[in-house]
Formats: sequence, C-alpha cells, structure tokens
Amino acid sequence: MSELLSVSEAQQRLLSAFAPLDVERIPLAQAVGRVLAEPVRAAFDIPPFDNSSMDGFAVRADDVGAARQDGGVELTVIGDIPAGQMMDITVGEGQAARIMTGAPLPSGADAVVPVEETDFNARQPGIAAPKTVQVFRAFKTGENVRPRGQDVRVNEVVMGSDTRLRPQDVGFLAMLGVAYVPVRRLPRVAVFATGDELVPLGSKLAPGKIYDSNSYTLVSQIEKYGAQPVNLGIVPDDVGAVQICLERAVSENVDLILSSAGVSVGAFDFVRHVVEQRGRLGFWRVNMRPGKPLAFGEYRGIPFIGLPGNPVSAFVGFEVFVRPAIQKMGGIKATGRSVLRVKLLEAIESDGRESYLRAVISNENGNWSARLTGHQGSGNLRSLVQANALLLVPSGVKSLPFGAEVDAWLLDDV
Ligand code: AMP
Ligand code: MG
Repeated sequence: MSELLSVSEAQQRLLSAFAPLDVERIPLAQAVGRVLAEPVRAAFDIPPFDNSSMDGFAVRADDVGAARQDGGVELTVIGDIPAGQMMDITVGEGQAARIMTGAPLPSGADAVVPVEETDFNARQPGIAAPKTVQVFRAFKTGENVRPRGQDVRVNEVVMGSDTRLRPQDVGFLAMLGVAYVPVRRLPRVAVFATGDELVPLGSKLAPGKIYDSNSYTLVSQIEKYGAQPVNLGIVPDDVGAVQICLERAVSENVDLILSSAGVSVGAFDFVRHVVEQRGRLGFWRVNMRPGKPLAFGEYRGIPFIGLPGNPVSAFVGFEVFVRPAIQKMGGIKATGRSVLRVKLLEAIESDGRESYLRAVISNENGNWSARLTGHQGSGNLRSLVQANALLLVPSGVKSLPFGAEVDAWLLDDV
C-alpha cells in the first residue's frame, strides 16, 4: 500500500535523488538565466581608477575652501580631460582641469566642482575649455569623486556559485571583464502524455477524445524554469508504446523523465509495470490537493516523475515537485518560493490536505486580498488561467473564515 506523505516530506525525498549537473563555459552574452557554477572573484578594483562623477572641474578642495556665492574663487585651467584618457598633468595650487564624467581624476586634484557651480556653465558639444574658472562654493575632499575600489576590491568574491544570472548580474560581470562564465548545464527533461483519449493538436476531435493539453503546459513550465524540454508526445495506454517511449527518453540523454496521467489507481499499473522492468517506482499518495497521486522512481538510472493527468493537478504537481528538482540540477540552492500574506475575501472550505487554491489576489490601499476563481475541480484549467496566485491552505485546516490570512504563491507579477 502506498504511504501518505506530507508535501515537505515528499519534496525532501524526491530532491535527494537530484544533484547539480556538470559545468560548461559559455559566452557572457548567452548567460542570462543560467546559474553560475563557481564563485566569481574580481580581477581588479571597481572603479579601476579615481574618476569624476560629474562634468566639471577637478580642483584641490583646499583652494576652494573660501569660495561662496558672492565671492567666487578664480582658478587657472591647465588641462581638459575627456573620459577614456589618463592625462599626465598635476593640478597645483590655484589650478583646475576641466573634466568629464567618468574621466580619471588628475594627480593633485581631490574634488570635482560641477559646471553648474562655476561661471562656465556651458556644455555645448565641442566647446573649448576656458582659460580660467570661478567657483562659487566650498567643496570637501572627495566630493564628486568616485574613488578607485569604492565598489569592489580586487580579489573580492562578488558573486556566489548558485546565482541565477539576472540582466544586472550579466552587466556586472562585463564590468569585471568576465567574457566567459562557468554555468551549470541545462537540465534536459523528457515529457510524455499517456491516455487513449488524447489526440494531438491539428487532428480532428472524434467523439470521446480530448486534445492533449498537459504536454503543452508541462513543456512550457520546463522552459520557464530554465530547462530543455524533450517532448515525446502522446503515448497510448499500451505497454509496448510506453516501453518505446521510455527507451527514447534514455537515448535522448535526459536528466529527468516526466509523464502525465496514468498514475491514478487502475490506469497507472501499466506505466508502473514498464518502469519497473528496468528501474524502480514508488507510488506515493501526497497529502495535497490537487495532485494526491505521485509516482516517483528511476528508469535505467534516470529519475522518473509521474504527474497526475488532470490538467490542474499536473500543473501544481510540477510547481511543487518538478520545479525544485530542475532548480537543484541547475545548481540553485534556494529552491523555496516567495510568498505574500493575503486576506481572504470569502470563507473557504478545505478537506484537510495541504491545498493549493486558484485565486486572484489584488491590492487595495496597501492590503492584499484574495478571492477564488471559481470551482476548484482538478480538471478546471480555466480557473487556473483566471488565477494570478495559488493560496496555500495548510494541512489539517478544514475551513477558513472571511478575513483570515493565508500565504499566496504568485503566478504572475501583480
Ligand atoms: P488519468 O490520470 O489517466 O486518470 O487522467 C485523469 C484525467 O486527466 C482524465 O480526465 C484525463 O482525460 C485527463 N488527462 C489525462 N492526460 C491529459 C492530457 N495530456 N491533457 C489533458 N487532459 C488529460
Ligand atoms: Mg488515463
């Protein structure tokens, strides 16, 4: 008889079968969304040299200490420093150099006076530097200067090895001169749908048949979470066909095999039979709603997860079990989800299982609240489409009143 497991127990057991995949080096330009496999150390300081954060004049703070609105201090301009040039000049007493944002600070200078605070508030392209400049307020040492190493010190570890690279991370690595990055190989995930009632899109729906929608949902989820889908299509309720399909998954060198349907009592047996011929399969009942039946094991050494056939159960089963497995293979350590605390705008009933209820959450005057999107039948994909969140009702809870607070998983940005 199968065991009744809590969701977290089932997650832990399942995740223990997965390990981070091997490492490959790819060009930085292709790295967004990939997971760093090694920590990154800075090869040099950022900024790499003292530079100006303003268009203006590099000065000695001591020289302009007495400057004020009605008593400007006049300095002799001895040079003109564009961004990109290290100039061999030294700003001495009573002197200044015109400087552009990002240009290296010349020696001798220790502050930058923005053009707005001088009598030379002229910024037309190509305009020559003045011979002298008047400064109308005092500046402190370091003002408008970005000192070398302010943001990053050479040899510092600036990114951990489990970082999923966001656009800003990619830009930061470019700033550090990292042209190739070590990342985890993308997990390859085979997926097939079982059921004699299923027909592929493009063919006519005969009476009693339905279109295979799970393959589309699951392939899309695989892609969304940064893995490579290998779509093996529809497999009829037939032992030979399932055998051929599983062997194809093996020859495709996948890291995980996913099936949908055929894991509820009765129809499940033939998939179990075939998997067990060359592997192992446990059949768990997980204390969750939707998606109680979950098959988990391995086929010829490749992890196998049998998701329920009902479209909402398959989706939720993926989010709860497959997503963290993909993340772990991808090298991501924190596989948890961010939750939002929301108030119920209606009383809800549950059956004591850990429930994932389809809901719309919204914000009014800073308060998040939630309303269910219609009946919660596990075949009602429409109510999932209308939802922007899943509400988490803990196990053991059978009803919650209007106004009660629950955690919500966001399905979309809200
Ligand atoms: P089963 O797990 O085979 O008992 O299927 C449970 C329910 O899910 C049945 O109503 C099936 O018709 C439906 N179902 C199974 N596979 C799919 C699929 N790939 N796409 C859409 N619905 C499916
Ligand atoms: Mg079936």
